[in-house]
Amino acid sequence: MRSQLHTRIVALLIGLVLAAQLATFVVVHFATERSVRSQLSDELEVGERVWQRFHGARGEQLLETALVLADDFGLRAAVASGDPATMDSALRNHASRVGADAAILLGPDGRWLAGLDGTGPDWGGAALSQAVARAESEGFALAVLPADGRLHQLALIPVMAPQRIGWVGIGSTFDGAYAGDFRALTGLDVSFVQAGQGVLSVYASSLEAPAREALAALPAGELAPGEALSDVALGEEHWFVRALALEDSGEPPVQVLLQGSLDQAMAPVASLENRILLLSGLAAALALLVAGFLGRGISRPVVQLARAAQRVQDGDYSQPIEVAGRDEIAQLAAAFGHMQQGIAAREARILHQAHHDGLTGLPNRSLAHERLERALGTVRGAVLVLDLDRFKEINDTLGHGFGDQVLEEVGKRLRQAVRPGDLVARLGGDEFMVLMADVDGERAMQRARDLLGQLRRPLDLPTTRINLDASLGLALHPEHGTDAQTLLRRADIALYDAKEARAGVAVYREGRDEVHLRQLALVGDLRESIARGQLSLRYQPKVDLASRQVRHVEALLRWRHHALGPVSPDEFIPLAERSGYVHEITRFVLEAALAQNAAWRAEGLDLGMAVNLSAMDLMDADLPGFVQSTLRRHQVPAARLILEVTEGALMRDVDYAVRMLHRLREIGVRLSIDDFGTGYSSLAQLKRMPVDEMKIDKSFVMQLIEGSDDAVIVRSTIELGHNMGLTVIAEGVETDSGLELLRRFRCDMVQGYLFSPPLEAGALLDWCRRFEDVEA
Ligand code: C2E
Ligand code: CA
Ligand code: CA
Repeated sequence: MRSQLHTRIVALLIGLVLAAQLATFVVVHFATERSVRSQLSDELEVGERVWQRFHGARGEQLLETALVLADDFGLRAAVASGDPATMDSALRNHASRVGADAAILLGPDGRWLAGLDGTGPDWGGAALSQAVARAESEGFALAVLPADGRLHQLALIPVMAPQRIGWVGIGSTFDGAYAGDFRALTGLDVSFVQAGQGVLSVYASSLEAPAREALAALPAGELAPGEALSDVALGEEHWFVRALALEDSGEPPVQVLLQGSLDQAMAPVASLENRILLLSGLAAALALLVAGFLGRGISRPVVQLARAAQRVQDGDYSQPIEVAGRDEIAQLAAAFGHMQQGIAAREARILHQAHHDGLTGLPNRSLAHERLERALGTVRGAVLVLDLDRFKEINDTLGHGFGDQVLEEVGKRLRQAVRPGDLVARLGGDEFMVLMADVDGERAMQRARDLLGQLRRPLDLPTTRINLDASLGLALHPEHGTDAQTLLRRADIALYDAKEARAGVAVYREGRDEVHLRQLALVGDLRESIARGQLSLRYQPKVDLASRQVRHVEALLRWRHHALGPVSPDEFIPLAERSGYVHEITRFVLEAALAQNAAWRAEGLDLGMAVNLSAMDLMDADLPGFVQSTLRRHQVPAARLILEVTEGALMRDVDYAVRMLHRLREIGVRLSIDDFGTGYSSLAQLKRMPVDEMKIDKSFVMQLIEGSDDAVIVRSTIELGHNMGLTVIAEGVETDSGLELLRRFRCDMVQGYLFSPPLEAGALLDWCRRFEDVEA
């Protein structure tokens, strides 16, 4: 795999090399071009001077030749003779001797006398006339003149005999050979041109034909004399041109164009540049190679690091990070390695903390769950859940510091007491779990008892000695469950049972879980029971033994659950208390019972209405207010309402209960101690209770037989009640013999199936009427 880093290093290096090469190329290109250009214009300057010499030398040579000719006796004689044929042949002889291109003889006044082929009376035209005029004043003249389509340099010298008898002119043409000579001398091309009608007429040139044609096509105004022009395009080539006006060449003046080819001058540079380009290519290729190796060299450790970082991110700290060498990357790798170890250690610590209890160092609930799940393979075993008794008390009275020490100690004792391979965990608070491997029910029970024995040893703390106690619940694998959750829940239920029974250790009993689940379902549905109209009241009469009349009825609640059918208040009232919903239920019952009472009163039936309060209702500070307003709303006298509170509820918090009873009593309602005999109240406590009546619990009454323990209890309870000025009621009266005894014991009222079960309102009315008829 090619890493991104690697690719970038390669790209960067190649980019750098190419940029450097390009910069070199550009610099070289422009520097050399500039130097070539300045060299070329220098050459043109030099060429100009050479031209002056070159041109001047030929002029002098022409003058000399002309002098020699003018001095020649034969020629002088021929001129003096005035005979054209003689003049003509003499001129011809002499001219061919000196190799002149043109030769003319003029009269003293400049009139044409004779000339070589191609000359005639108007040869040279105005330019010649000017030259003659100059020669007359200066004694000789050198002139450049175009004639018969060619360009000539002409030297004019007088022919004296001894007076001036004429002029002799010797000319040389500016032709290709002449231009070629100059070119051979200087390496510069030369052209002789004259501005014509809009274009240049080129008389001669050393240029090749295409360039020469391009020159002829140039606009005439382009080339001003004395000027150096750069970059004149002639055909395909570029030129530097320097124009010189030839003196004495008439109007417009003939120009000599000195020309240096830029392209030719640049040719060696171009080949140099090509070589640079080639080298650049090679260098780039080399750079590619080097970058490849270098990039891999640099990127490989970085890539290794990146992969290592990815592994760490994925949570794998096991592989060491190794990068060879001693450079920064290797150092970085080493630092990274340390970091990885640090992270691994920290993670292990965090993991440990997440799975262990900080106080005891034992596995916590989630780890216990996990271990339990793993241990539940094929082996038999038992899950034991343990809860300290009175731990809240220890915490509250001795402080949390002591509480913590107790928990630590319990953890230690458990660890010491279990066998190797067993698991001890703290589930939370004062709840611990022990997983016992490979035990059956009997052995598990035995070991649970041993454990409890260990835990019960008193604990000596620096300032105090604490007696520890605990309750233990057992669930067996696989009998009571095959998954951790079920086993833990069932062990919990067993623990609950153990606590209820104060038994120390309890094993899960078949079916308890179902009760538990049913309770969960009931608690969930209870809140909707009122709204769904599932709650209703039944009424059970209490009969006054002295008057043989129905004085009171007790309202008893019924719940018809939509799926489960009738649910007993003995089952759902405790659930309502635990879920805090009981206040609503009590209000519902008070409301319905008083409404019913008012209805009966309207029909002429004046009954006392007994309503049961739960223990939680005694904590409801708003209850007296509610009772009062409901009484008022239904216009029921307060004395007609009897509130029954169980002895057990009153004993939970005696002070609070007494205060609440006083508040209720102030309203004017009657108060009754229900289920009397089951609540372990002392006489002193009883005396503080502002109550009006006492209901002997039905467990003493139902099988009441003369001479039994129950009879003794019932009799003394009735006496006790009467001594305290209370009305005494016996509930659960089922037999005539029992009723007979109660009569004898002077019990004030009776209630029970012997008379009537709890009835619907209408049925109760009928029953009352029938009862009165019978008794009457
Ligand atoms: P409790 O207040 O002691 O009510 C008397 C219970 O004994 C009633 O059961 C009644 O049907 C039953 N009973 C009456 N005569 C006899 C008899 O001759 N033999 C036997 N074996 N039982 C008899 P119920 O109606 O199932 O009520 C059970 C308990 O539920 C009540 O005991 C009371 O503590 C509670 N409860 C009922 N209604 C309410 C209520 O509206 N509010 C509160 N907080 N508790 C209620
Ligand atoms: Ca009752
Ligand atoms: Ca009762």
